[in-house]
Amino acid sequence: MKKELYELTPAQALERLGASEGGLAAAEAARRLEEHGPNQLAEGRKKRPLQVFFEQFKDLLVIILILAALISLAAGGGESTLVIVAVLLLNAALGTVQYFKAERSMESLKALSSPTAKVLRGGERVELPSPRLVPGDIVFLEAGDLVAADGRLLECHSLKVDESSLTGESEPVEKNVQALSGGQPPLGDQKCMVFSGSLVTYGRAVMLVTSTGMDTELGRIARLMGQTQQRRTPLQKSLDDFSGKLAAVILAICALVFALSFFRGQLGLVDSLMFAVALAVAAIPEALGSIVTIVLALGTQKMARQNAIMKDLKSVESLGSVSVICSDKTGTLTQNRMTVQQAWVGGELLPCSALQTQNAAQSRLLDIALLACDATLSPDGGAVGDPTEIALVRWGDAVGRPAAALRAAHPRLEELAFDSDRKLMSALFLVGGVPTLYTKGAMDVLLARSTHVLTAQGPVPLTEEWLQRITRANNAFSGQGLRVLAFGFRLLPQAGPLRLEDEQGYTFAGLVSMMDPPRPESIQAVADAKRGGIRTIMITGDHKVTATAIARQIGIFAQGDLSLDGAELNAMSDAQLDEALPRISVYARVAPEHKIRIVEAWQRRGCVVAMTGDGVNDAPALKRADVGVAMGVTGTEVSKDAASMILADDNFATIVKAVVNGRGVFANIKNAVQFLLSGNTAGILAVLYASFASLPAPFAPVHLLFINLLTDSLPAIAIGTEAARPGLLDQPPRDPTRPLLDRPLLLTVLGQGLLIAAATLAAFHLGYQGGSAALASTMAFATLTLARLFHGFSCRGPEPLFRLGFRGNRLSLLAFGGGVALLAAVLFLPGLRTLFLAVPLTGSQLAQVAGLAFAPTALIQLLKSLRVFLCSRGRKTADCNK
Ligand code: ATP
Repeated sequence: MKKELYELTPAQALERLGASEGGLAAAEAARRLEEHGPNQLAEGRKKRPLQVFFEQFKDLLVIILILAALISLAAGGGESTLVIVAVLLLNAALGTVQYFKAERSMESLKALSSPTAKVLRGGERVELPSPRLVPGDIVFLEAGDLVAADGRLLECHSLKVDESSLTGESEPVEKNVQALSGGQPPLGDQKCMVFSGSLVTYGRAVMLVTSTGMDTELGRIARLMGQTQQRRTPLQKSLDDFSGKLAAVILAICALVFALSFFRGQLGLVDSLMFAVALAVAAIPEALGSIVTIVLALGTQKMARQNAIMKDLKSVESLGSVSVICSDKTGTLTQNRMTVQQAWVGGELLPCSALQTQNAAQSRLLDIALLACDATLSPDGGAVGDPTEIALVRWGDAVGRPAAALRAAHPRLEELAFDSDRKLMSALFLVGGVPTLYTKGAMDVLLARSTHVLTAQGPVPLTEEWLQRITRANNAFSGQGLRVLAFGFRLLPQAGPLRLEDEQGYTFAGLVSMMDPPRPESIQAVADAKRGGIRTIMITGDHKVTATAIARQIGIFAQGDLSLDGAELNAMSDAQLDEALPRISVYARVAPEHKIRIVEAWQRRGCVVAMTGDGVNDAPALKRADVGVAMGVTGTEVSKDAASMILADDNFATIVKAVVNGRGVFANIKNAVQFLLSGNTAGILAVLYASFASLPAPFAPVHLLFINLLTDSLPAIAIGTEAARPGLLDQPPRDPTRPLLDRPLLLTVLGQGLLIAAATLAAFHLGYQGGSAALASTMAFATLTLARLFHGFSCRGPEPLFRLGFRGNRLSLLAFGGGVALLAAVLFLPGLRTLFLAVPLTGSQLAQVAGLAFAPTALIQLLKSLRVFLCSRGRKTADCNK
């Protein structure tokens, strides 16, 4: 079918697909969507619940637990075996639910960032999410678009597409509408076809969708390559590695403990084995992996609510260590709401509102501004187009020359679209019967291509004196942070097709300054970033003087800083750039390629760089940055595809908020890890102590399973949802090379584990006074469970609870309540009590358990309060900044 499509003419192709030039009717499109399914590649086969459920059983832990169940069975504890199996099943069920929850949340994020396509439906041009495209749809393509389906070109205007994702060829390929004949050419040679997954780098076109989703060439390749594996984030990897190593060490210690107790003849084979198994179960942090995934997923949901859409979990981690943010100016730091201010024309400076349409030079300036311009105003006062051009059209309206009437009288013959490399935009008209090129653009670019200047007396040669006058006017505007646009015209010998070489030999017609005020929130956000040790750099296509003035207003440019323009950057070697880098706050008149150089220079200094971008050419820099940030409103699909974060509101302040959230997520993960590991350490220490002191095992494996898998998971998740503390911005960015489990964390884990173990063993001894191992074990189990539930509050953050706010994290209260209820069920419900090998406790024993369980938390809170007190008294220890 496809082979025939590139052999057909556009009209034949339309007929073949049952489509029409006005696009499919809505009902027909809906029918085809039903028939072909959504236009998306199957992302690996979706896992079925049962598959996920069984996957929960395939690690080392399960082998150990099955071993424990078998040993219990051999020791005559059929009930224990039952509990172990029940806990295992419950854990697998919980794991399955968590998996699908995380999956759903990532899917809803993907939907937020899913690309859109401009489609003709029932004669109207509409914007649709790309998954809703169907064969037979007519789609408009322009530079910056991601081709979302395979299609036959119906119309083509200088179209170039990058097909590297399909063919590996990085040079963009030129396309046309000519039908091909003869055998099947390779993809790259099918000039009248475009393929899903390619990027439009230049020009525009209209295509007829021929196939969608897995039926496209990309779908075929995806099918050939098989399923894509879900990647683990570096954090998940390092934690999995840690768990693996820990399991190996624990197994070795278990073997040792078993050998010691068995061969010393203190315990029988079964009891010695029970010891070893208890130790293994105590030590392995079963819930760790899933907790990290849950916390990361919850973090991304929160960020999405605050307009920062993360495309993968990995970037959430990188965000937390961002130390440099390179931001565009227009629209990100500023409001992108331009209004014209003053004009310079024929050597005269005047307010734009005072322009005289009877004055020939002033009238010409206005004509160029309105004709070399695509923005339009609607009757309801709204406007469509680039904000710079909207400002010009509003200006025309204000001085009594509506753009629409002027354009109707002067049909455009040809045009050269604006691009931020050239910084010019030109259009060709017949003015008084003479082909005339009207151009607007950056002042320095246009002035360098001018030979004359327009005055009240007509064009005069552009002498050195005129050059200086124009430059002075430009500097006066730019110095106030105003954006300056220059205008020129040129008469052409004939009205043929325009070439880039025609953009020279201008008569310089004048300048217009525009105000684009900074976003008020940018100033605060830059200050916040600075407080958090994050450097903000402005990278803009605008003039150096304008950019520096705005950067100064926002707080990016300080005394002693440097501004550089693209030409100066080109003249610098990498070594020179490296040396000057820390002082450069503004890069002006840069082309997108410069962005890569700037990212790499900061990365050479070991910094983690976030970089914004919106254009097609920004994509490589977005990919190169540690966190590529695309603009959700004004950004091209290509830039969104390359980025790892999309700003739904194009606002710089959102980046800083996301960085704070990234730091918060990382801190929460660290706190949850501290909570889980310190609890496990307490269990290990208690078992080891009992083994070396030749006491009975303080816990049965079911006890530890109950804690590790049930009562510990609840506070761990609650810790993961802790709100980002304001103090997070008082610390420097996290060093990405520093491991999560660093020395201070491990020492804290050990210290807190010791405290909880001491309380647990005290309860064990109290229970063992009467010689009852069952009572001792029940008291030890109850104390360890409750102490770990209390400990959940201490792990919410480095500060004492009175600072964090007891009710600041409702979930932590619920988790505590839920954990206590589960423990109470085990202690008080006779059936469960038997299953958990527990004995009834008296009122005073329960009071002892509660008191001992609370003691470690009380002590930890006391120490934290003491630190706060000492810090407030000016005792600056390193810990004060925590
Ligand atoms: P940023 O890179 O921060 O978004 P910017 O919008 O100023 O800044 P560009 O869009 O690349 O960057 O514009 C560069 C220069 O080109 C501007 O300073 C202006 O002089 C000129 N310019 C901008 N828009 C147009 C346009 N629509 N037509 C002609 N020239 C323009």
